[in-house]
Amino acid sequence: MPTAIAKPADPSITVIQDSTCTFCGCVCDDIDISVKDNHIVEAKRACVLGKSWFFNHAVDERPSCLIEGKPASVADGIERAARILTDAKYPIIYGLSDTTCEAQRVAVGIGDWIGGTVDTTTSVCHGPSGMAFQGVGEVTCSLGEIANRGDFIIFWGSNPAESHPRHFTKYSLMPKGMFLPNGRKDRTAVLVDVRKTKTARAMDMFYQIKPRRDFEALWTLRAIAKGFELDPTQVFDDTGIELARWQELMDQMKAATFGVILFGMGLTMTRGKHINTEAVLALVRDMNAFTRFVAKPMRGHGNVTGADNVVSWRTGYPFGVNMSRGYPRFNPGEYTTSDTLARGEADAAMIIASDPMANFSQAARERLKVIPFIALDPKDTPTTRAATVVFTTATYGINAPGTVYRMDDVPIPLRPAFKSPHPSDFEVLSGIERRVKEIKRSRHPA
Ligand code: SF4
Repeated sequence: MPTAIAKPADPSITVIQDSTCTFCGCVCDDIDISVKDNHIVEAKRACVLGKSWFFNHAVDERPSCLIEGKPASVADGIERAARILTDAKYPIIYGLSDTTCEAQRVAVGIGDWIGGTVDTTTSVCHGPSGMAFQGVGEVTCSLGEIANRGDFIIFWGSNPAESHPRHFTKYSLMPKGMFLPNGRKDRTAVLVDVRKTKTARAMDMFYQIKPRRDFEALWTLRAIAKGFELDPTQVFDDTGIELARWQELMDQMKAATFGVILFGMGLTMTRGKHINTEAVLALVRDMNAFTRFVAKPMRGHGNVTGADNVVSWRTGYPFGVNMSRGYPRFNPGEYTTSDTLARGEADAAMIIASDPMANFSQAARERLKVIPFIALDPKDTPTTRAATVVFTTATYGINAPGTVYRMDDVPIPLRPAFKSPHPSDFEVLSGIERRVKEIKRSRHPA
């Protein structure tokens, strides 16, 4: 299991060096965790969110499998799950952002075998970015390049001070890089947002735009970049910021050596959604006529970027993919889970490491309550409590090995701390896939 183990003074403690925190999209892989009696007692270098993730981890005492609330063997659970999925006319698979790429790959395979719909939590966070990338393309880079080169950093609708606490110190503000020997002093940082979040305190400039006017603000910058004359009154009415301040920002953007826009859900989930993201990607593309500029989404959950990558390399699309015709079709709004449930179309579901019963619309939750569904989760949640078949699984990163993707699409291996009595998502899904294939073959012999 663990790949790098140090010898501490206390022999009852095991230290796993360079372990990976999967709590947020930074996926920090430099955490030294100390384990005593199957409890994590220290998580060196983890931020407050990471520490809470490691310290509050406890192996769930529930049985590894429940069928209709009664303890069952994992083999029986797999059999029942495979039957539910193969008997359905419109089965859906949802979640996937808090599990390993290996498990995600198998889940997409099951979706293909059952002619189902595969969707991830991207559809309720950065889904609009996934659509915009397909429409506009992406001028991108790794977080390492930002750390070594990024001298003009714009955070747009994101609040890393609270959501990704080590982003500033590891990548975007503080590190002394190859071309930024003085670290923070060599960088200019800007926040564009509708409210003054904690991130604003760490910035050199703050642009408080009107709510729901990101699209107008981005197109104002695009127009200024191209040298179009704008009406100052209209710009102020549209964005809440004077034209002269936008001009000042654009002048600094053009003067940068390596500019970066890091955008969050304040951009992607407000009015405009995917056209907001298209606007930021188009602005960055425009800026490359003057200097090097890139854009990156600030991804939230640990392996949501892995989910996008795995679903993309298996189907060609990042989320909301329907395979009922034997080939993948992508149509957000039609094949996204909150919609297929709310319209009453899905007649069976498998939810992996996600809790739609806690955060979907009333209509979607009502539908989920009345259809048979399977839930895989290390935790007891409203979704696992309503499921027909529940698998309590090992926590990825802490108990289960595998691969996750950092928010900049860099794959990172996991170094788990100790074994769980529960199977991993990968093991359960592999069992379900095997049974699904057998059932399908028995019904349609060659
Ligand atoms: S920044 Fe994110 S990945 Fe890094 S330690 Fe904190 S919560 Fe974990």
